[in-house]
Amino acid sequence: MREDQSYCPACGARLVERPLEREGLVPYCERCAAFRFPQYNVAVSMIVRDERSGRILLIQQYGRPSYILVAGYVGRGERAEDAVVREIREETGLSTVRIRFNRTKFFEPSNTLMINFTAYVANADAIRVNEEIDRYEWFGPEAARRNIKPNSLAAEFLNAYLDDTRE
Ligand SMILES: [Zn+2]
Repeated sequence: MREDQSYCPACGARLVERPLEREGLVPYCERCAAFRFPQYNVAVSMIVRDERSGRILLIQQYGRPSYILVAGYVGRGERAEDAVVREIREETGLSTVRIRFNRTKFFEPSNTLMINFTAYVANADAIRVNEEIDRYEWFGPEAARRNIKPNSLAAEFLNAYLDDTRE
């Protein structure tokens, strides 16, 4: 998904930088006479918690034997909050009761702004994962911290969240 953003997406001409009022230097196409703001993807990442027990859901995907968070891309025109509820329903069948914003981080390898939320779900026992998930497990907060893939963006989000909430 990573793209060379040195060229105009409309006509292919090489972009130059030009000052834009209140925005600083912005890539500009002289052929189109138009500013071309850098394009990137937006995704949501969720710390899914069972509302009753407080346990945290970690999953394994794509044949990789390491635990990560549930995540997915936000559709064009879709609210990030709605993408949270949709992705959790699609991947686990679970109903989200409420969500809380945690933090964001730009993830360079996939040119994606990741938005992390906590999502509380109503009934952990109702989980029915789809074919995108190889394996899942509910962990207590400290066990989740020990089991999440080390040095991953998921671990960064989870550890920061647990440090903030101090459980
Ligand atoms: Zn152009």
